[in-house]
Amino acid sequence: MPAERSTHVLVVGIDGVRFDSLQEAETPNLDLVAAAGFLTPIQVAGANPTISAPVWSSVATGVDADQHGVLDNSGRPAALDRFDDFAAVLQRARPGSTALIAASWHPLVRSSGNGPLFSSGGWASPTDPDASGSVADAYAADAEVAEYAAQRLRAEPVDLAFVYFGVPDVVCHDVGTGVDYQRAIESSDARLGQLLDAVAARPNRSREAWTVFVVTDHGHLADGGHGGDSAEERTAWLAASGPGLNGPARELSHADIPVQVLASFGVAHPAASGRVFDAV
Ligand SMILES: [Zn+2]
Repeated sequence: MPAERSTHVLVVGIDGVRFDSLQEAETPNLDLVAAAGFLTPIQVAGANPTISAPVWSSVATGVDADQHGVLDNSGRPAALDRFDDFAAVLQRARPGSTALIAASWHPLVRSSGNGPLFSSGGWASPTDPDASGSVADAYAADAEVAEYAAQRLRAEPVDLAFVYFGVPDVVCHDVGTGVDYQRAIESSDARLGQLLDAVAARPNRSREAWTVFVVTDHGHLADGGHGGDSAEERTAWLAASGPGLNGPARELSHADIPVQVLASFGVAHPAASGRVFDAV
């Protein structure tokens, strides 16, 4: 009888990638995830504006803005204190489990201003793209995040990881959809590839079962910008693959993701309104 493999989950967040633009870009690494599992468009929940902080808070907590209270990128509402991120929920259920959280958008992980949206906090890139608003800094910050996360994923006992890249959103705000945006999406796919390569190189990889989620928070208008209710802004997407993870039998939502992440470990989410993917 083969030994049971240990459970591991990698969640990769890529900010502001339109579903149609994703399909026009060359994304060999995402394609691998989708081929082993699925890629599906998802709609930003009605309670959430199509803004980064509300939607990433749903990915973190399993509830939407009607509960977590995050309606824009400007402040951290007290309501969010009631909702742990999925890493905190795992670590409470399974003391000793190891989480890796790394992001180039600092409000996700840093205890300043409007953060951290992930209650566990995490590692922020030394370069802060928000400080300058420059595309070059966004690329530099994502490179830092990928290098840091890949190094830890390659050799350390990571059970659960959330890794965030922001270049596509910064580029689309700057110049809208088009060739630069396509290149930005392709750069994020290359970052995803760095993480998947690191996982593949783990010394005990053959004794580990990995589930991978890749998700965006919202789309963009053609000229760049989001926050409204157009289909281009409301349509996000999710790719996932892993043991026992089938194609979705229903429309999935961002709040379902942390519930499914925890279900991979056999842990029920105590507070989420989201559901496991195969719940109908
Ligand atoms: Zn965003």
